[in-house]
Amino acid sequence: TTPIYDCIVLGAGAAGMFCAAQAGARGLRVLLLEAGERAGRKILISGGGRCNFTNIHAGPANYLSENPHFAKSALARYTPRDFITLVEKYRIPYHEKTLGQLFCDGSAQQIVSLLETECRNSNVETKLRTAVERMEQTDTGFRVHTSAGEFTARNVVVATGGLSIPKLGATGVGYDIARSFGLRIVEPRAALVPFTLSDTERELWCDLSGLSAEAIATTAPQKKGPTPKFREKILITHRGWSGPAVLQISSYWRQGEVVLFDLAPTANVFTPMLAANHRRDDATAFALLRAHLPQRMAERWLYENAPPDWKNTSITKLEERLHAWPVTPAGTEGFAKAEVTAGGVSTTELDSTTMQAKKVPGLAFIGEVVDVTGWLGGYNFQWAWASAHAAAMAL
Ligand code: FAD
Repeated sequence: TTPIYDCIVLGAGAAGMFCAAQAGARGLRVLLLEAGERAGRKILISGGGRCNFTNIHAGPANYLSENPHFAKSALARYTPRDFITLVEKYRIPYHEKTLGQLFCDGSAQQIVSLLETECRNSNVETKLRTAVERMEQTDTGFRVHTSAGEFTARNVVVATGGLSIPKLGATGVGYDIARSFGLRIVEPRAALVPFTLSDTERELWCDLSGLSAEAIATTAPQKKGPTPKFREKILITHRGWSGPAVLQISSYWRQGEVVLFDLAPTANVFTPMLAANHRRDDATAFALLRAHLPQRMAERWLYENAPPDWKNTSITKLEERLHAWPVTPAGTEGFAKAEVTAGGVSTTELDSTTMQAKKVPGLAFIGEVVDVTGWLGGYNFQWAWASAHAAAMAL
C-alpha cells in the first residue's frame, strides 16, 4: 500500500518542529510524532526561559564534530539572519545579551508558539503522547512503530535529540534507529556541562561556592590540534566548577585531561614585584591578585600556590601558573545537567546537503542527534534550524 504521508518527523523539539513546518510549507503531507505531552519542552527551559534562539556570529568554527566541515553547507544555506527574519515576522521582541547571543525579551514560549503556528499553517499533523519505538524500511518507504500504533511514509526525519536532561523526555531512540540501519554512532557524551572535583579538591575549593571570576578556559595542549580559548565567567559550585567558560571547555574535555584557567587574562599581576625596590611578600602578592579575583578566591589561590620564597624565578613561575592554572576535573555532572549531547550519528554516514543517510536514502537525521555540537550561546538552536531546513528542502 502507498504510504499516506510524504514524511514522518520523529520528535517535536526545535529541529523536528521546524523541519515539519518547512516540509509542510512545500506542500508535503507531514506527520510529526512526539512522546511528550507538549511540543518544544526543551525550548521552554532554554536560555533561562528566554531562549537564546540564535547567535549572529554562528559559523562552522563554533561547532564540534568528527568532521568539522560537515555543518558548513547547512549553516550557509540557513543563516542566523534567516531565523531572525522569521522572529521579526512574528513581532517577537529580542535583544543581544552578549557575544552575539540573541534572546527573547519576553519568554521562550514565544518561540514555541512561532513553531506551532508555522506547523499549523503548513498543515502538519502533530501527534503528542506518541513514543517512537523503532522503524523499518518497506517497499515504498518506512514504517514507524509507536506506542500509538504504526505509521508509514515515503521519508522519515529523525529529530529525537540527544541524551541530555532525561527528565524532559530525552531518549536514545535516535541512536537506536541509526544503529538498526547499520549507521555508525560517535559515542554520545555530556557536553556544556559543569565539572566535578575529587574529594580533596572539593575540600579545597567548594566552600567558596558562588564565587566567580572572569577567566580564559582551555585544555592542555593536545595532539588533535589547538582547543579554542573561552574568555567568560568561571564559577565555583558546591561540587566543582561551572560558569559559561567552564561549560564551553567541557565540550572539548575528555576524562583524565587537564583544564587550564587563566585567572587574570591579559594582566601582569605579580611581575611588578620583580622591580628592584618593590615589596616582596605574601601580603603584597595578595594585594596584587585581589585586583583580579574575589578576595576569598585570591586568598585561597595564593594559599595553594604561593612559592616558598619571593626570588625572581619564583615570581615569574607564579605569574605563569596564574595564567595557565591546571585543574583536573574528576568528571562532569553528566547528562542530568548537560545542556547538550556531543557525539551522535556519525557525519560520515550522512549527506551534508540533505541530512539523509547515504546508505538509506529517504532517512534523514537532524538537530542534536547528529554528531554536530554547538558552543554555548545560541549555536545549538541555529544548528537545529539549519539542519532542519536542509532536510526539509531535500524531501
Ligand atoms: P530536542 O529539542 O531535545 O527535541 C527532541 C524531541 O524528541 C523532544 O521533544 C523529545 O521529547 C522527543 N523524543 C525523544 N525520544 C522520543 C521518542 N522515543 N518518541 C517520540 N519523541 C521522542 N541551545 C541554544 O542554542 N540556546 C539556548 O538558549 C539553549 N538553552 C538550553 C538550556 C537547557 C537547560 C538545555 C538542556 C539545552 C539548551 N540548549 C540551548 C540546547 C538546545 O535546547 C538543544 O540543542 C536543542 O533543543 C536540540 O534540538 P532537537 O530538536 O535536536 O532536540
